[in-house]
Amino acid sequence: MGFDLPSVLQARSGEGAALWSKYLNPQTSPVLRSIGFDKRWERAEASYLYDDAGDRYLDYLSGFGVFGVGRSHPSIRRALHEALDAGLADMVQMDTPLLAGVLAEALIERVPTLDRVYFASSGTEAVEAALKFARYSTGKPRVLYCDHAFHGLTAGSLSVNGAKEFRGGFGPLLPGGSVPFGDLGGLTSELRKGDVAALIVEPIQGKTVRVAPAEYLSEAADLLHRNGALLICDEVQTGLGRTGRFLCHEYDGVHPDIVTIAKTLSGGFVPVAAALTTSQVFEKVYSSMDRVLVHDSTYGGNALAMAAGLATLAIIDDEGLIANAALIGKRLQSDLRAAAERYELVTDVRGRGLMIGIEFGRPSSRRLRNRYTPLTFARRGLFTQMVVCALFEQHKILTQTAGDHVDVLKLLPPLVTTADEASYFVESFCSVMDSIQDSTRPLWHFGWGLTTRATLRGPRTPA
Ligand code: PLP
Repeated sequence: MGFDLPSVLQARSGEGAALWSKYLNPQTSPVLRSIGFDKRWERAEASYLYDDAGDRYLDYLSGFGVFGVGRSHPSIRRALHEALDAGLADMVQMDTPLLAGVLAEALIERVPTLDRVYFASSGTEAVEAALKFARYSTGKPRVLYCDHAFHGLTAGSLSVNGAKEFRGGFGPLLPGGSVPFGDLGGLTSELRKGDVAALIVEPIQGKTVRVAPAEYLSEAADLLHRNGALLICDEVQTGLGRTGRFLCHEYDGVHPDIVTIAKTLSGGFVPVAAALTTSQVFEKVYSSMDRVLVHDSTYGGNALAMAAGLATLAIIDDEGLIANAALIGKRLQSDLRAAAERYELVTDVRGRGLMIGIEFGRPSSRRLRNRYTPLTFARRGLFTQMVVCALFEQHKILTQTAGDHVDVLKLLPPLVTTADEASYFVESFCSVMDSIQDSTRPLWHFGWGLTTRATLRGPRTPA
């Protein structure tokens, strides 16, 4: 008998965790179990996930930003069915497939300062392309990156990662050098060395939810250009409307030489990514016929990915998702800021559109400090994990800690989220913070349980 998806889903239902423990990353199931995230998800729609008990969870993680247009969007599903049913001659390789041209045209219409597109399948692959394009077109070896930067985990992207917990044990990596995010001093002195191809930067850092300060990107671009180097804006997470603009760097009035996008472009169905750049860069990299395949990928521009990308762009326009992200994001941030006045543990609420960070820090009262300090001393970020777990368990809301060793709760709702969902989030957050402020409640005990588990897990990366 051939493969029959419905029978597999039915016959093997509930075996996911056991199969992962046996055949995939052995740490995944224990980690999920330790924080109470070991649910069996049955289905998903728009802003919601449904588990096997029929409970509904508000998805304010959106698959790390993949589900910008919401889960299971009917227009994307229809586009994919149509692409399959069309029986297209896909990935002939020795051809110029129409849909890749149409999607490239649609992207350049939205980013008119750039004029060429390279398609890949994942964010990290788009970053790899950007690094190669910058190095080749400038003839220089080093790509600078910012402290706390995250650009993916393949070897090139890891070379521009600003966190030692990811890099440790994987060296030697590509020549680079980190500069402080938002500060031009370090960049200026690195550029003096004359060997810098580019600076790669996220307009909002994903691991800290720090927004690039006003003028930083445009002044960095000036400095780079005066020194024969390029500005790469990594918009894999911030792009496609997430921050209330099509691309986040539009807020800064800057013209990057290369922009990487992915995540939302996939519609949540087919992995797709792109590096957008200038004709000057492409004329250097693809300078002659014998260099036609000098940087390429078998799956880049495949029909399903292109159909998903085109359908996604149409949904963003038709449903006004960029305006919705700006509106709901602004409301969420101002409601959270107003609520934060009541909580001495909340030190900042920041972000743009629907990429929002809530930072926690040392409380002023001794009563709370006596709880917070030992937890944070055991492992920075555990306090935020405690809030994430409480939101999940008590209010059925999925969120995340922004990164390792930071106390920042990160919200990445789908761009279709509604005002009611945003209000539900704020009410739930306040309810969790109320029980935390009342330090006699059991939440802190749960936090202590996390400490033990985190410590037992030991160091996350080799030295
Ligand atoms: N760049 C940024 C800014 C990201 O946030 C990510 C992933 O979160 C990546 C690159 C890597 O993308 P992917 O996981 O698709 O390789």
